[in-house]
Amino acid sequence: MPTKYIFVTGGVSSSLGKGLTASSLGRLLKCRGFKVTMCKLDPYLNVDPGTMNPFEHGEVFVTEDGGETDLDLGHYERFIDENLYKDSNATTGSIYQTVIAKERRGDYLGKTVQVIPHITDEIKRRISLLENESTDIVIVEIGGTVGDIEIVPFLEALRQFRRDIGRDRVCYIHLTLVPYLAPSGEQKTKPTQHSVTELRTAGVQADIIVCRSDKPIPESLKNKISLLCDVPIQAVVSAIDADNIYEIPLLLHQEGLDDYVCKVLGYDPLAHPPDITGWTLLNRRIESVEHRVKIGVVGKYVNLCDAYLSVAEALRHAGFECSTKVDIDWIQAEEVQDLFGSARFDELDGIVVPGGFGERGVEGKIAAVGYARQHLLPCLGLCLGMHVMVVDYARNVAKMAGAHSAEVDPTTPYPVIDLLQTQVDVTDMGGTMRLGSYIAHLTAGSQVADMYGNTVVSERHRHRYELNPRYRHLLEEAGLICSGQSPDGRLVEFIELGEHPFWIGTQAHPEFKSRPDRPHPLFRGFVLAAKTVAEARMGRLIDVDVLQ
Ligand code: GLN
Repeated sequence: MPTKYIFVTGGVSSSLGKGLTASSLGRLLKCRGFKVTMCKLDPYLNVDPGTMNPFEHGEVFVTEDGGETDLDLGHYERFIDENLYKDSNATTGSIYQTVIAKERRGDYLGKTVQVIPHITDEIKRRISLLENESTDIVIVEIGGTVGDIEIVPFLEALRQFRRDIGRDRVCYIHLTLVPYLAPSGEQKTKPTQHSVTELRTAGVQADIIVCRSDKPIPESLKNKISLLCDVPIQAVVSAIDADNIYEIPLLLHQEGLDDYVCKVLGYDPLAHPPDITGWTLLNRRIESVEHRVKIGVVGKYVNLCDAYLSVAEALRHAGFECSTKVDIDWIQAEEVQDLFGSARFDELDGIVVPGGFGERGVEGKIAAVGYARQHLLPCLGLCLGMHVMVVDYARNVAKMAGAHSAEVDPTTPYPVIDLLQTQVDVTDMGGTMRLGSYIAHLTAGSQVADMYGNTVVSERHRHRYELNPRYRHLLEEAGLICSGQSPDGRLVEFIELGEHPFWIGTQAHPEFKSRPDRPHPLFRGFVLAAKTVAEARMGRLIDVDVLQ
């Protein structure tokens, strides 16, 4: 069978959860035995999200092959459990970049270069890149909202795509909002009608309409939407708010979404029965909470939790496996020192310092990891998080006064973290980092090797600075254990302390590889260590009760 395509667009409002809906559908189709891959087309002009402020756009998700991509790709990977690629995310900026480069090379042979056909052809080429013999279905999410100026070339490309490859190979899904208006006590379909009409103006007739709402949409309303939007009633799917995001595939399955998608794509649903046992079990595990831990995540973008989305998910995944609810306390790095001794800080069972760039909040992060080191509190440092651990250790244990990362203080007497292999080209800040998957060798018998159950591991990277080999020996003499390094021994990839239950830093971003049903070993180890702290705290509280 040739590869088939599902296009997911959104209308009425942004933040409707297109990415989660698309990912959930991907999971359901995988449960039916299809080989699925996913892709996101983003209508903004940045060539990739790598240069965007996480506060505006959320985290940058890194793929195995070093793509700096939209955070929705993280959802895709976590739901469909497949690694994606650089090519799984394309932006208007990258599409224009390719077309303009071709124009400069003279590839268009003197023709006038236009949005149609040149930009739309390039969009279609990007979509087709994902097609190969091992893919049954490609799900393509279009960022932005129907009605935006930026989205127009994408809709035109989608329209042409179906015409080019045949009707039975394409399914258009449109996600809309059905708001509940309290004064009239009614759910309203008008925004959906308008949005479907707007899509039709671009020549795309939705095959399926997924209606987001806080309450289920009754049959009568589905009938109305079916009539006014010209789709069969089975094509109107109610998508209510879920308690946890991993429940969404089950809710959509109950609504018959995957069944109907099969029909649109010309597959007999009975010939591809769904096996959702694994996913149902996962949800049961998520619901069966027996323990709780409170983890402080110390960062500078904590007002937008999406900036650390994969870290938060990886913590939760680790919790799922040990029936533990992970409550995250988002701590503003600049406020850490003021919190020492406060009830809020005392209640923490562990601290995570995630990745980051620039100077703001760094001293707070150094103080946080130092506190965790001294109080034997589990602490996990990710990339910049490892850097601040090294700086803390250098300053406070190895007695290198004024030690710092050269990223923050280029004149420090002890640049324990420094720029090693990449030189920054200030005229092009894109893709200049150590990006993507790299192998590390772990020391047998170390904490990290025990957690991974392996001495050769591979993790994704996104950074320019590294532990400076000039100071490695001094740090090791002072007790820091460099428990993982690059195969050539030059780069330190993991650090830990012998006498601490969990004070581990990694130069990589293990959070990108965690899956809901397969938590990452480091996060699992961290949550288990935090659970021990929480249990000891409970024990102390009970003792106090008994004494009183
Ligand atoms: N800013 C640091 C570097 O460039 C760390 C990056 C990160 O945490 N991802 O090396």
